[in-house]
Amino acid sequence: MARQASRVRRGFAARRHVVQFSGGIGSFAVAVRIARRYGTRNLTLLIADTRVEDDDLWRFADDTSRLLGVPLTRVADGRTPWEVFRDVRFLGNNRLAPCTRLLKQIPCREWMEQHADPSDTLVYVGIENTKRDRARIPAIARNWRPWLTRFPLCGKWEPVRTKEQLLEEARSLGVAPPRMYELGFAHNNCGGACVRAGQRQWRHLMQVLPERYDYAQRQEEELRQLLGEVSILRDRRGGESRPLPLSLLRQGEPPC
Ligand code: SF4
Repeated sequence: MARQASRVRRGFAARRHVVQFSGGIGSFAVAVRIARRYGTRNLTLLIADTRVEDDDLWRFADDTSRLLGVPLTRVADGRTPWEVFRDVRFLGNNRLAPCTRLLKQIPCREWMEQHADPSDTLVYVGIENTKRDRARIPAIARNWRPWLTRFPLCGKWEPVRTKEQLLEEARSLGVAPPRMYELGFAHNNCGGACVRAGQRQWRHLMQVLPERYDYAQRQEEELRQLLGEVSILRDRRGGESRPLPLSLLRQGEPPC
């Protein structure tokens, strides 16, 4: 039985293992687990550069690469989310964000098409084991087809770990976690200025990284000149939905 399990494991190790490495702590934890389980010979850390990531994301990614001895495989469309919104004439928001598809999914898929045979490759995604994140699994798996996906942090045998435990795991391996978590952000993506984020995160960005909020506000204003009454956020008080530009949020509208 033990010999059979070891044969199965050797068979898996010979496959290509692609970790969709976002620079977040979940994908770090997944990369470490896959490296421990199957070794690093066939391991790829695939990361998409949106050109607006926090600088410390790249420090964290480089530290992870050094820890595992696996180079980063960096893909990029070349545009920022703001440039995408101008090109597609649509400002992303929490219902529809074309930047995800154009800056992350498509460049990663293009790389996969050139380098990873679907019959011999597993894709690992570092979503954390929360009810909200688990609900995303079917859509993520669908988007990655024909490649097979695995979600190691949500596996049956993996104890549920909090984000703080995952951050501690990185520290214990000598890798300082991305500073965005210490700054109070739940995710380390697009420098905290994600168009899918809600009012709470944008207010937080205004407080802790004001220059980044200013930049996003200017970009949104330019897009409003181009596209009209659009905004990342909506004000839904009173049962009505109205645009809530970052300039108004700055003035304290709507009240917390
Ligand atoms: S993290 Fe947010 S802003 Fe960045 S690409 Fe994804 S949806 Fe767009």
